[in-house]
Amino acid sequence: MQHEPYWNIKGGLLIDLVALVAVGVFCYGVYRHWSKIRGGEERLRIPWDKLAGWVESVDVKRFLVGGVLGSRVYRDELSGVFHGMVFWGMLILFIGTLLVMGNVFLGLPVMSGGFYKWVIAFGMDVAGLAVLIGLGYLLFRRLRKYERIVTPQSRTGFVAAEVFLLAVVLTGFLLEGLRIKNSGAMETAFLGHLFASILPSGDFALILHRLLWWGHGILALSLIAYIPFSPLMHLLLVPVNAAASESYMGVSTEALDMESMDVEEESDLPPLGAAKIRDFSEGRLLDFSACLWCGRCQEVCPATLTEKKLTPKGVMNVLADWLENNRMEDEGLLEQVGSDVIFECRTCGACAEVCPAFVNPIKSIWQMRRHLVMEQGELPETLGRACKNMEALLHPFSSSISPSDWHKGLEVPAFLANETEYLLWIGCAVTYEDRAQAVGRAMVNILNEAGVSYGIIEEARCTGDPAKQMGDDYLFSMMANSNIEMFNDLGVSKIITMCSHCYNSFKHFYPPVGGNYEVIPHAVVLEDLIRKGKIRLNASGSRVTYHDPCYLGRHNRIFEAPRHVLQAAAEITEMGRTKENSFCCGAGGGNYWGEEEGLRINQTRAQEALDTGAERVVSSCPFCLLMLTEGSKNFTDEDFAMDIAELVEQSMQA
Ligand code: SF4
Ligand code: SF4
Repeated sequence: MQHEPYWNIKGGLLIDLVALVAVGVFCYGVYRHWSKIRGGEERLRIPWDKLAGWVESVDVKRFLVGGVLGSRVYRDELSGVFHGMVFWGMLILFIGTLLVMGNVFLGLPVMSGGFYKWVIAFGMDVAGLAVLIGLGYLLFRRLRKYERIVTPQSRTGFVAAEVFLLAVVLTGFLLEGLRIKNSGAMETAFLGHLFASILPSGDFALILHRLLWWGHGILALSLIAYIPFSPLMHLLLVPVNAAASESYMGVSTEALDMESMDVEEESDLPPLGAAKIRDFSEGRLLDFSACLWCGRCQEVCPATLTEKKLTPKGVMNVLADWLENNRMEDEGLLEQVGSDVIFECRTCGACAEVCPAFVNPIKSIWQMRRHLVMEQGELPETLGRACKNMEALLHPFSSSISPSDWHKGLEVPAFLANETEYLLWIGCAVTYEDRAQAVGRAMVNILNEAGVSYGIIEEARCTGDPAKQMGDDYLFSMMANSNIEMFNDLGVSKIITMCSHCYNSFKHFYPPVGGNYEVIPHAVVLEDLIRKGKIRLNASGSRVTYHDPCYLGRHNRIFEAPRHVLQAAAEITEMGRTKENSFCCGAGGGNYWGEEEGLRINQTRAQEALDTGAERVVSSCPFCLLMLTEGSKNFTDEDFAMDIAELVEQSMQA
């Protein structure tokens, strides 16, 4: 059997004129989006003259798998399956329509024989059925006001877009049904036959078919024109955002270089951080446009889940809304977002990890935080105190503890230029927090036992990471430069860290300010020493669970090394939220020094660890250790949290 594309239609080619108009409107709509995204801070625009380099840096897998195929949508299995039915179904219907056009204009042999029978007739019916089912579910969910979608608000236009799609597919099936009823057609078009069974035949049916043919064609082409003016634009914006998004998801690594800025008067100063939509970079404006307001981010955000005011979706709602309404220069953005909300973010990255549109709320929140701190000097009192300490003491703690207190009674070598291989960076938490000092002592005992060439710098300092996370880039640069100068004098090239924030800071924030080192987190050092047989552990058989520090795990993808270490010493039981889906301890983003009201994040995480039935929760960051120690006090009198170095030291002695 053969199918004639213009059966019962006269002047059908005129539809191509409508198609031209539709494509023109579509292009205009895309141009409007483009212009809005180009409206960001001029200095921060994508350098089109360096486009070739940018294209080379694009992660092709993220673009194709994450952006085009929407792999992250399937994390929520139910919603993912129905989204997939709509996406793949529409794609097949679109390709099928192109093949039919190929037959009309180029004579492609697709409208007869087995290809027509199984690919066009059967395949397109299956695709159409999938779209109908998928759309039915999505509409049902929206109309039932599914919580994550409607809280705090949902993007307008999704219902209209879904009804539009539904109308296109349904008119397509009605058309097929009328044609089958009046001309006979391939039996593999099973849905067309079903519609045919309830549709009329005869002269009236032929007129109806003609009217419906034009109606369906105009509706389908209008849908194409409508895409850039509706939330369906995410079909284009998400792949572009996936391609443009940076692989490092934390706060910006860009150095604040005031000296190289061409500034003659204060009014020439570029905005520090963002207080208006125009202050954000193109990358962020692309984020605002691509955000679907789906709410998946707030389902994993530790602040939202512990009833803080911050929801990443809520922040994106405001930013997207201001961009869409062309409020590029309007004042009052930070007031609407809320300065308390801006400081509640832990920069943990959970939101960016799950976002199906590759939006990164951290980077926008941090720009607003930078403005509050560097332009307005506005930050919560306890964070301000930590910043003052960093300015005066080069560390954030208000502590009377002496820098050598943590290693009293231990033999700890000093780092010697041209002699010592590794600098064991102690960091501020291990130096100035009682509970964290044990981590330093354990690490020293392990390195001594393994015969590693290492040394410390007695003058305990901070990397400047808390200042950067709190939004004070000036202070960070000052501290980083001071450390780099000291490292240069000593000839430091390899650094072992015990803190995930120190590791992240040396790895990502120091290279742009001129500090390039080989940095190794202690969990990786320990794995290496065990693997090479330099230290021997006696597995105790005890059950432990591992808490992934956000800045070792999610931000730097170090998931397996600490687990290998734990496996050598104990039996691991995993928490529900683990590895890239780990739940922050609450300390990130400078919030170790913050005040927390209501349900506490560290208690929530400690409870989760206790629920596994493990005897201890092990981490590889002193801030996680401190937060989990504090958090577990509410539920147990036992010492529940420990560091990976403490576990290894215990197993060596057992
Ligand atoms: S940021 Fe991402 S996850 Fe959050 S609402 Fe927007 S699209 Fe959804
Ligand atoms: S980075 Fe973490 S705390 Fe901040 S908005 Fe995202 S999920 Fe919430």
